[in-house]
Amino acid sequence: MQFHHHGYVSHDPRVLPAEGIGLDRPADLPDEMDVLIVGSGPAGMLLAAQMSQFPTVSTRIIEKREGRLELGQADGIQPRSVETFQAFGFAPRIIAEAYNIGWMNFWGPDPEHPENIIRTSRTEDYGYKISEFPHLIVNQARVLDYFAEAALHGPGRIEPDYGVEFLGLTVRDEGAFPVEVRVRQVADGSERTIRAKYVAGCDGARSGVREAIGRKHVGAMAAHAWGVMDVLVNTDFPDWRTKCAINAEAGNILHIPREGGYLSRVYVDLGAVAEGDNRQVRHTPLEDVIRKANEILHPYTLDVKQVAWHSVYEVGHRVTDGFDDALDADRHPRVFLTGDACHTHSAKAGQGMNVSMQDGFNLGWKLGHVLTGRAPQQLLSTYAAERRPVAQQLIDFDREWSSLMARKPEEISDPQELAAFYLGTAEFPSGFMTQYEPSMIVDGSSRQELATGFPLGKRFKSAQVTRVSDGNVQHLGHHARADGRWRVYAFADADASALASWADAVEPLFACFTPQDGDVDAVFDVKAIYQQGHDEFEFTDAPALFRPQTGPLGLTDWEKVYAAAPTVWCQEDIFETRGISREGAVVVVRPDQYVAAILPLNAVDRLSAFLEGALLPAS
Ligand code: FAD
Repeated sequence: MQFHHHGYVSHDPRVLPAEGIGLDRPADLPDEMDVLIVGSGPAGMLLAAQMSQFPTVSTRIIEKREGRLELGQADGIQPRSVETFQAFGFAPRIIAEAYNIGWMNFWGPDPEHPENIIRTSRTEDYGYKISEFPHLIVNQARVLDYFAEAALHGPGRIEPDYGVEFLGLTVRDEGAFPVEVRVRQVADGSERTIRAKYVAGCDGARSGVREAIGRKHVGAMAAHAWGVMDVLVNTDFPDWRTKCAINAEAGNILHIPREGGYLSRVYVDLGAVAEGDNRQVRHTPLEDVIRKANEILHPYTLDVKQVAWHSVYEVGHRVTDGFDDALDADRHPRVFLTGDACHTHSAKAGQGMNVSMQDGFNLGWKLGHVLTGRAPQQLLSTYAAERRPVAQQLIDFDREWSSLMARKPEEISDPQELAAFYLGTAEFPSGFMTQYEPSMIVDGSSRQELATGFPLGKRFKSAQVTRVSDGNVQHLGHHARADGRWRVYAFADADASALASWADAVEPLFACFTPQDGDVDAVFDVKAIYQQGHDEFEFTDAPALFRPQTGPLGLTDWEKVYAAAPTVWCQEDIFETRGISREGAVVVVRPDQYVAAILPLNAVDRLSAFLEGALLPAS
């Protein structure tokens, strides 16, 4: 990470200097604000952490709970989320405390003694080869803690206003703060009205914000119930520390070891819910769930020593009929729905928290851009256009996975089928399948053949390069922070002459979108990747665009020039691993890490047209 560019710091460098609203943030919830986030779950907390990088935007996050979450529901963190944590600066720390899923084993009835289970297959977990980031298990509460820290340590110094409940809202057609929101102070029941320019409904499955804007959850319950418990046990089941899907005569278990070496999450199939049950199944006693788990695991046994948390739920699959309040195409949205507020499904594919966080990531930079004048208001309409199809894909995937998991052994013709589905669909649950359609922020005229390993509209898949200034190996994508900036990767032609001309030509273009009182790279973080070895040319010979002088001291940034030729420390050549043309290419990446454009080095006009469609010139 880079620091000291604002002068020497001796304290924790992750605590960024306060700016804007962060300098004297009011302790109490003010009457007016730019962005009001309702709910501090994974979607809301990520959004708060992102908004903290836009300190001139006043953002508040209200939460009806009195304090931090202690027992979370979600625990499965897909590699895409860990990649996102990297951008927010806490991936190494959360990886260190999490359980890392390397394998998934499958169990079924023993053909000789069907009342007993035997292991039918072992597969590597889906994260392998798909990403350099692991598939983790860690409590949702810890994820929220890390995002809370990122929000507080960002320049905007955002902290949740706990104990404040959202009651309802009205969108007015006039005024600087057109969304009127009724809130209640949980401690004393007092109510008041506050006003915001935009409201993000991150308030979970029973979203009051959704109701207030008249959106409907569409879908149905699947009439199938599961018990779930986080348990500390002694057992003779040999795979207790490996993720397993168990498909027994007596029912099904999805078993997931948890962080810390002892705890496990066990999903126990409670079977079909009788018609007219009217949610009675949700009162199934914990003892029944434990007894059922023992029946399924036969001949192995579970001696449960402590239950940290348990619940019974029915599987439902629902998507909201719209993700914002713009009921007709001419209206700009003012209120947005994210996470469980707009999509709910079963828990067993471990997707809800992950997809909810990506909703927040998608929305955050767009709000930041519009409210700082970097982009036109119509950018906000791309939130619903991009995220609703993702939610629908999630529901479709989860419906298939959860019904496969709930099958009886006699319905399974091939014991390897579940394992094959798990591995075959790996890109989706690991979070990398999302591909946004061409729009004002995904350039449909891109030349995909110039960088085949960076699919347009998909997230930028990192690869290793060597930093020229010090010869250190770096993952190019890991350098990108969730700081609201665009990344532009300029891959050089063989002798770098076209790169030099490109750098000269684009400097005024980038300057046009960059506020004059900020750093020259405040909006575009532009990096060069040469085909040569790092020791074949001097850093100081790179065009000035890649050696900007930033911060109050105007210090040269030494970390924007990279080399691709393999060395003893870095065996891969990014031009090969990502299929980049030896003629060079420019890859533009959005602040949420999705590839926005792929252009030749000589297409500066095209780049200019794309940026003019997506952004506003700096005033
Ligand atoms: P939530 O986490 O529900 O957060 C909403 C927040 O809004 C809450 O803090 C709530 O208190 C607050 N709120 C609600 N109403 C108001 C109001 N009126 N005023 C103020 N605040 C309000 N997902 C995964 O990705 N991986 C998993 O392994 C996984 N396992 C799961 C296991 C179980 C048993 C369950 C039930 C879910 C699981 N999920 C999992 C799903 C995951 O928990 C949710 O998808 C995720 O929490 C949704 O995040 P969110 O931010 O949208 O909403």
